[in-house]
Amino acid sequence: MLCEGSGRFTSAVIDQFFPDISILNSQGDTQTRLHERASSVAMEQFGRRVFLRAVVEISNFCRENCSYCGMRRDNRNLARFRARHEQMAELLIHYRPESVTDVNIQAGEDPVAVRELVIPLVKTLRRETSLGVSVCLGTLNPILYSELQEAGASTYIIKFEIGDPAHYREMLSPGTHHERLENIRQLAAQGWNVSSGFIVGLPGQTESRLLANFDLARRLPLAGCSVSPFIPGDETPLSAEPIAKIDLTLNSMAALRLMRPDWVIPAVSALNLAEPGSGYRRGLRTGANLVTINLTPSEMRDDYLLYKRDRFIMTEERILSAIAAEGLEPSTESLAEFYRVRDLQRAVQPCAVPANA
Ligand code: SAM
Repeated sequence: MLCEGSGRFTSAVIDQFFPDISILNSQGDTQTRLHERASSVAMEQFGRRVFLRAVVEISNFCRENCSYCGMRRDNRNLARFRARHEQMAELLIHYRPESVTDVNIQAGEDPVAVRELVIPLVKTLRRETSLGVSVCLGTLNPILYSELQEAGASTYIIKFEIGDPAHYREMLSPGTHHERLENIRQLAAQGWNVSSGFIVGLPGQTESRLLANFDLARRLPLAGCSVSPFIPGDETPLSAEPIAKIDLTLNSMAALRLMRPDWVIPAVSALNLAEPGSGYRRGLRTGANLVTINLTPSEMRDDYLLYKRDRFIMTEERILSAIAAEGLEPSTESLAEFYRVRDLQRAVQPCAVPANA
């Protein structure tokens, strides 16, 4: 419960913080205080710095069929593509913005792209650049996870998507809920920094199902977690459903920050679809400390269809101006280096940080 008697949130309470539904639905002054407190908790942990990474979306082939995702295998209207190693290497080695310290290589669930493109690309980037490397490639076999790690990737982004197992099944999310969670645990045990996440506002998400996301997140061995607003994708079975409420999404981000002050929490680009013009900047005000510049070449981007064909692209200019407008600054330390140093410190002082329950 959030301690609000005096209008303040104490750190003793934050250590055991778990949201209730009234917090997630809060509005007006209570909501303002919630966001301010989340922002100041992030400031205490990370200062003004925000990690700045680039994403490249390298394949839209996907063997999964998630009801909410435009890249689902049943979407026959999509021109499927796989990028070429040379093109991606050249882009990231010679044409990435200077402010970028890390790269996230993302794809539909496409093991062929992992083998033929991602593993060689990770090796090239580690050899030619100082970029930290994250990957977001879905549920793969353990051998591919090991090969990615040996190539030099250190962060695996794998959202659990939905905390409630029945809701996960209803939404045809990847594989089974159990399998997704086992993969998250296995990746963490293998030494990856695992960042997960969930979607707010999905059709069929009751209050208890929403809260199940927080309960699951706090029990997983994570380094970070995202909150994405549900965006009804044009070419999905959910196209006629309503978009997630921005306030519920932002309140969930703030609650996540209070629940886990030390996590890396991104501001996702979809915030600007949930509230055009201001959603993203409001996300930076709820304690988010990671932003992503999209570097996918435009000829591929249009077919990397998560939501709508008309995408809101986070360019370097948009990102840097949003950060500056919120009084934040880009981190010069990479996310990968931050995790590396933190893990070393935790190995020396295991009691200094909250344990992953
Ligand atoms: N295939 C990989 C995987 O399974 O982790 C990579 C990520 S997948 C291409 C992109 C992510 O976008 C999903 O994890 C999902 O959470 C999110 N996503 C897809 N469609 C969405 C929608 N309509 N609204 C909100 N988030 C969505």
